[in-house]
Amino acid sequence: IIDIEGVDKFYDDFQVLSEVSLTVDPGEVVVVLGPSGSGKSSLIRCVNGLEPIAAGRIVVDGVTVHDRRTDLNRLRTEIGFVFQQFNLYPHLTVERNVMLAPMKVRGMAKDEAHELALELLDRVGIREQAGKHPAQLSGGQQQRAAIARALAMKPRIMLFDEPTSALDAEMIREVLDVMTDLANTGMTMMVVTHELAFARKVADHVIFMEAGTIVEKTAPATFFADPQDARSKRFLSQII
Ligand code: ATP
Ligand code: MG
Repeated sequence: IIDIEGVDKFYDDFQVLSEVSLTVDPGEVVVVLGPSGSGKSSLIRCVNGLEPIAAGRIVVDGVTVHDRRTDLNRLRTEIGFVFQQFNLYPHLTVERNVMLAPMKVRGMAKDEAHELALELLDRVGIREQAGKHPAQLSGGQQQRAAIARALAMKPRIMLFDEPTSALDAEMIREVLDVMTDLANTGMTMMVVTHELAFARKVADHVIFMEAGTIVEKTAPATFFADPQDARSKRFLSQII
């Protein structure tokens, strides 16, 4: 469902991605690990067309992302994106945040959007917060609201870029639980995270990036027990 082939990307003359290739099949969860600056965010941002690429090809659900004819807004309705900062609209209630895109983009009626919002907020465990504004929620609740908002467009793919790294320890768990549930429903997910226990438990594949390349792609059991590459070994020895 995600096919990344030989992608190069530059920021001016700095090459951030070098010949990156990766396939994610429907229903798979891929966790992207790697040191700071290795290009994890850049890669995930390329997948939904937030960043241009210099060479190669990314095809998502049959659509070539970096093709002039591709309607990126439309593509992004099929790809939910959740990042470190929750980016909820501060002036809207939580339920309004979730209702907005289905109403605006899908033309959904208000009642139906409201029902959908409550159902999704229930799914992420914060239905009782529906009428509050984002600033009145904890960080973990805000991030779960952001996940609900992404799910409101019924995406076929969810991308996560360090969704828990702005959160305190006790809130990390509740967000990871929601992500684990999502993975168990068969959602295709690409997740940049430093949460190794999540990677071990939920990922179908772990990819390890360093300096803009994918150094290793393996099953999590293999990655954590017996990393194949010296760079993965070093990375793991530093953080475990
Ligand atoms: P982290 O774990 O710190 O989030 P990352 O693996 O997500 O790191 P990226 O954010 O993809 O790394 O950045 C990779 C490299 O590209 C870094 O050296 C960064 O400084 C550089 N970079 C990222 N965004 C830009 C930009 N918009 N313009 C110029 N350089 C950038
Ligand atoms: Mg990053």
